Order: sequence, then structure tokens, then C-alpha cells
Amino acid sequence: MTGDFDFTIPKICILFFEQQGKDIIPRFGLFSKMADTKLYDVLGVSKSASDLEIKKAYRKLAKEFHPDKNPEAGDKFKEISYAYEVLSDSKKRSTYDKYGLKAMQEGGQDGPGFGADDLFSHLFGGGIFGMGMGGSARARRQQRGEDTVHPLKVSLEELYNGKTAKLQLSKNVICEVCDGKGGRSGASHTCRTCRGCGIKVTYRQLGPGMSQQLQSRCSDCGGEGEVISEKDRCSTCRGKKVVNETKILEVHIDKGMKEGQKIYFRGEGDQQPEVEPGDVIIVLHQKQHDKFQRSGDDLVMTHTITLTEALCGFSMVLKHLDGRDLLVKHPLGQTIKPGDVKGIEGEGMPHYRNPFEKGNLYIKFDVTFPESHFTNEIKLKELEQLLPPRPTFELPKGEHVEEVDLHEYDPNERHAGISGRQEAYASDDDERAGGPGGIQCAHQ
Ligand SMILES: [Zn+2]
Ligand SMILES: [Zn+2]
Repeated sequence: MTGDFDFTIPKICILFFEQQGKDIIPRFGLFSKMADTKLYDVLGVSKSASDLEIKKAYRKLAKEFHPDKNPEAGDKFKEISYAYEVLSDSKKRSTYDKYGLKAMQEGGQDGPGFGADDLFSHLFGGGIFGMGMGGSARARRQQRGEDTVHPLKVSLEELYNGKTAKLQLSKNVICEVCDGKGGRSGASHTCRTCRGCGIKVTYRQLGPGMSQQLQSRCSDCGGEGEVISEKDRCSTCRGKKVVNETKILEVHIDKGMKEGQKIYFRGEGDQQPEVEPGDVIIVLHQKQHDKFQRSGDDLVMTHTITLTEALCGFSMVLKHLDGRDLLVKHPLGQTIKPGDVKGIEGEGMPHYRNPFEKGNLYIKFDVTFPESHFTNEIKLKELEQLLPPRPTFELPKGEHVEEVDLHEYDPNERHAGISGRQEAYASDDDERAGGPGGIQCAHQ
């Protein structure tokens, strides 16, 4: 069954702590410290300031710290805007007065419309929020489930031509039989172990007068704060409120998509009661291609030609990513040197969302030289007549002139002992004993 699909998303379990309507905040001493006046301080007003006073203070500061006038003060302006956003809204203001910034941050959609996390860490230096409260307070107001991220390997051909991949997705959906309640309505009751908060708090003695507070998910209710007795549980989902379902998604890989590009399936993540499901996000990973490398929308490849082709022109056939054969001709008379790069316009990757426009294809040339003794001495002399003349060479005179031999050099033998090297050279010489040797030729 699985074989019919390109890939399968493994089931990802989401830890979920929704606390339906139960106010757990006062349970933790830590939170009382968070009812602060920071936002009032930002605007420079007292906690009892009227709406009008707040508005006036905001206008004055906003003018002063507006990024247009004061580009250095971007964070300050954000703080001011956020403080005003909260304090000018009576509902948000009263939540803030009661519980402090932390409660605002958890507000999800009620929260600020910009990089709230950055702002909070800026306001608080990251201190208070780094305290592992994730399982408790954040959960209470969590309104959106986690995203499921899945990598998808694609070939360069698929990115060039486009492709539709089928994705078999196993996910939780709300149980239709009990409508996500887990049992008949009214059957659930508050968990006795955690008294509904979903969190178990234990204290660990660290030393005299010092103890550490540890929080873990309540195992009796699975962190939900509510339990349904066995006899009342929905028989379809067995009280879990969700059932597993297999769904097939079609992933459209558009022409020109890139390594690391994300394809979103909004709301296709796991469903949980009273939570907006997260997204399924497919992240493309390009498999290495044995011929082409991609550079933006350009393609780059290396092609090896012979010395004859480099000097006398050549034709080559290039199989492109869409199966076309490109006939590439290089005319007689133009030489190609090792490392030369030539381009073919419009034969690169299609532009994403504008696939009729394409990048360029660049070919980097490598030149292979003929093997030693590929022809006889007479022919070599003839060849020399055809090639451009040698640079002039003046033999120095005197006792300081010493004739030395050139040998094959193997960088791996660099550290070998001298005697070892001499042996290698000796065998080299043996092999060459009969041949004329190009080196001698050069000394004439
Ligand atoms: Zn059910
Ligand atoms: Zn519990």
C-alpha cells in the first residue's frame, strides 16, 4: 500500500495542554510576579492613567521615536506601539493588569501583530520567559497546533520539468461520533490528580533552604485536566477525541522550485478539539545531479574535451534535463583552454512562477592531453612545425650550471624517505629506457 506513494509522513504526536476554561494562572506563584507595570513605564504614565492620558503619551513618544525620524530607535518604537496597543484596549489592559506581560504573550491571536517574541525578549532580556513554563501557561491559550515538517527529496529533472508527488499522510482528525468530546456530553470531569491544571508540580530539595520546582505533565489525564470515566468513553475514539485518518495530498513541485523551498498545506496538521490545526510543510531537498550543478537559475557543468578538440573545434551532444539533445558546436579556429567557461543563453533552470524565462547554462571545459609517446619522433617534429614557436631559450654558462632530471611527482609520497624515492625514480627510468622522451627533446 505504502509503495504507491512517494513518501509517508510518520505520525507526529503533539503534546497538547489545552485547559478548557480553567484558570490555572494563580496556581503558580511565579505568575504573581509578572503582574508588572512595564508597559506603563514604556509610555511614562501611571497605572491609573486615563485613556486620554495614555493616548497623549503615546502620540508624543511615537512622534519622537518614529523610525522615519529616528531609525536607530526601531525597538523602542515597537515597545511604544505595543504598549499602546495593549493599554488602549480595555480588555487587553485588564488582562495585563491582572497577569502581566506573560499572559499577553500567550494570547495568540490577541497578541501583537509583529515579532512579539523578539519584543518580549527585548523587554525582559529573555529572563522570565526562558523558565520552562512551556507546558503550563502557554498551553492554556494555545490556539494553533504544531506544524508537521517533512523533507522531500527531488531530482533536478523534477525541479526543471515540474512534478506532482503523492503524499500519504497519517493524521489525527476530530472524532465525528462524539464531536471531539471523547464521550457523551457532560461525561468528562476534572482530573483529581492535577485538579484540572494538567500539570504535576513536584519539589526537589537541592540543599538547605533551597528547592527546585519541577513541572511535568499529569499522567492521569495526559495533561488535559479532564478525564472521562471508562464507561462513558466514546467507543469510536476510546475517549481520545480524535481518530487517525489516512489522507492523500498532492504535492505540486512547480518548475524552477529550489532547494529548501517550502510547500504549505494550510491546516492539514493534526486536529485537536478547540485548536486550529497546524500546517503540513514540505521542504524540498534536491538530490545531487551527476552532470549539472545549480547556481540560482543557472546550470553549471564540466565537460572534458581532447587536445585535438580544444585546438581544432568540436561538436558535442548534450542531453538536457527535459530529454532534449542539445547540439553544441564549437568552430574550427577558436581554441579552448583548460578551465575556460562558455555559456548557452536560456538553457538554465526555468524561473519559478515564470517558467518560460530560463537562466543560462555554463560549460566549464577540461582538456585531456594525449598520453606520452602518442606518436613517433618524426611526427612530433612535424607537429612542432605546426604549433606556435617555442619561447627563446638561452643556455647559461659557467660552473654553477647543473643539469637535473624531471620525474613523476606523487604528492602522497612527499614524506617518504629519500631512499624510497630513489627507488621509485630508478624504476621510472627503467620503463623509459627505450623511449626517446620529450624532456631530452627540449634540451636540444
Ligand atoms: Zn469519539
Ligand atoms: Zn490530571
